[in-house]
Formats: sequence, structure tokens, C-alpha cells
Amino acid sequence: MKTIQKHFKLIVTSLFLLINVTLVAQNLPNIIVCATGGTIAGAGASSTGSAYTSGQVKIEAMIDAVPNIRKLANLKGEQTANVGSQDMSVSVWLTLANRINELLASKDVDGIVVTHGTDTQEETAYFLNLVIKSDKPVVLTGSMRPSTALSAEGPLNLYNAVAVAANPKAKGYGVMVVMNHEIHSAHNVKKMITTPVQTFQSPEEGMLGKVSFGDVQFFHKPHGLHTTSSKFSITGVKELRRVDIVYGCADMSTDLMDIMVKAGAKGIVIAGVGDGNMNAGTLEAIKKITKAGVPVVRASRVPIGTVLLKGEVNDEEYGSVSSMELNPQKARVLLMLALLNKPSRADLQKMFLEY
Ligand code: GLU
Repeated sequence: MKTIQKHFKLIVTSLFLLINVTLVAQNLPNIIVCATGGTIAGAGASSTGSAYTSGQVKIEAMIDAVPNIRKLANLKGEQTANVGSQDMSVSVWLTLANRINELLASKDVDGIVVTHGTDTQEETAYFLNLVIKSDKPVVLTGSMRPSTALSAEGPLNLYNAVAVAANPKAKGYGVMVVMNHEIHSAHNVKKMITTPVQTFQSPEEGMLGKVSFGDVQFFHKPHGLHTTSSKFSITGVKELRRVDIVYGCADMSTDLMDIMVKAGAKGIVIAGVGDGNMNAGTLEAIKKITKAGVPVVRASRVPIGTVLLKGEVNDEEYGSVSSMELNPQKARVLLMLALLNKPSRADLQKMFLEY
């Protein structure tokens, strides 16, 4: 009789614990981690060597490697792609954005984390910022050191990214990048240094906030239209029009834009010198191309600053527009989305002022 009582007590206690754990889990936010590869999923033969290959570790293994991460949120991983972000493509952007829109439309999903290589992370973040139709948090993260490296920072970055995505305060901030304890807006963030962990910075407007071992603090709201206030939509879009970037330098060749247009470019961004500037031959080439209906956006190869509307170059004379504070790679993203329609030069300049 005593044994039966003992067993009964044990069953009741276990059931109580199970119900308790389930209730706690149900109170946690539901976060989906969409993995795309990158160094955070990279692996190398030696923990002290710099050689490695991106996109080797699958998302569930990555989540399971982070201590206590499942205490922050109910997590589910999805493998959207598994590439080094140098191989990120428009096709993956469209798949990822459509999937995120679908997930966030569900009341059972509270936020998204995207793991991504750092080389093109700012471009993916900015693309998503313009086409995601939800105010729920979308947070990109990655790492500079592969998972097998000494002091790999991927696990802490993933932990902090989940903490931000799970935080109710993060609603309405658009798409963010969380790395190295910092929260950056998709509009501002730039990869500034080739390999150290402090590579992501927002030199124009500063970081949005900080996250320290899961503790989230916001300083200010992001700049520009985004997510629910963005007019761009990729519903039914299967591809984007080709936009190429020309890199400015002293004595630059003046036939580069012609070559790109002949190869199929429907828009050109110029990473100009200084304030989005270029030599006289290239300015003449711009005039010809814009007259033929191919838009040209002037950005700068200088990492920090705004390309002035009324500086040395008179955009009205050449038919070009200024990228304002967008760097060439983000200006390309905005131009590709703008080319889903047929914007006039004035429309295009307005977009670069607003987004
Ligand atoms: N090529 C890698 C990538 O972007 C390097 C950088 C990284 O992920 O940190 O995927």
C-alpha cells in the first residue's frame, strides 16, 4: 500500500512539474530563427587558424549550442539557406522576405531572428526593412569568428539577438542588426572593419541601443520609413531589375556605365569620390545614360557622411539623384525596389530622402 502511495505521489509531483514547465514555456514569446549561413555557421579545422568555410552548421545545432537560450523564448529554427553571405542573392532575399511576412502574419509568432554572414548583412537587413509588413521585431545577427574558433562570439550574438526579438520594447523599430552587444538599425548599420568583432557600426546616427547578456536597452528610434510605413511590396515579385555599382577613383574609365547598360543594367549606383563626385567624362556619361532612361544614383565611396543635394554636382543638369546617407550597396537595394515601378527623377530623389 505504501509503495502505491509513494508511486502516486511521484506521478502527481511529476505532472505538477510538467504542467508548470508547459505553462512557463507558453508564456514565453515565440521566436523563429531563419538561418541563412555565414561565419556564425562556419567551421574550420583549427580553433586558432583563420581559415574556415561559411555555412557548415545547421540551425538546430546552433541553437542547442547556446546555454539558456530556450529560457528567453520558444524557439524554432528554419534553414532558409546555408551560404557565405558573399553568395547572398536577390532570389534568397525574396524567399526570406516572403517567409518572414508569412510567419509574422501569424498570431503565434512574436518575432524573427535571421542568422546571416556579415559581408552583406547590411544589404539584407535594409532590403527586409523596406519589404516586411509587420511591426514585430526582425533581428539579424552573425559572427566574425566561425563556430570552431577560439572565443567564437556567435553563441552570445545569437543569445542577444533572441533577447531583442523577444522583447516587447523592440516592436516598431523595423529591422535591426544585433552584434557585439549593440543594436543597430538596418538603415544606418555598416560593416566598417574587415574581420574584428566590432565591425558593425552606425557612424551617422549611432546605435539604436545595447543588449548585454540579454538585457535590452533602447536609446532612440530609427531614421526613415520602414516596414509598416514602407510603400514597397514584393507580393508576386519574382525578380528585381539589375542595378550595378561603379566604383569611383582618380582617372576612372568613363566607359564603365555604358558597358554595364549594354550588359543589361537598368539602373546604376556610383560609389563616387568624396561627396558623390566623379570626373568630367563620367559626368557626361551619366547625362547620356539618364537621358536614355537609365536612372543613376550618386553615393560615395567614403564610409561616413551624406551626399549633398546641392554640392559640386548639379543633379538636375546630369539627371542623377543623391543617395543621401545610404552607402552604395544600400542605395542599390533601394533603387532595385524603386524600379519595380517607373519612378521619375523627382520621385526617386524623394524616395532617397524618405527611406
Ligand atoms: N564571408 C563571410 C560571410 O559573410 C564572412 C563574414 C561573416 O560571416 O562573418 O558569410
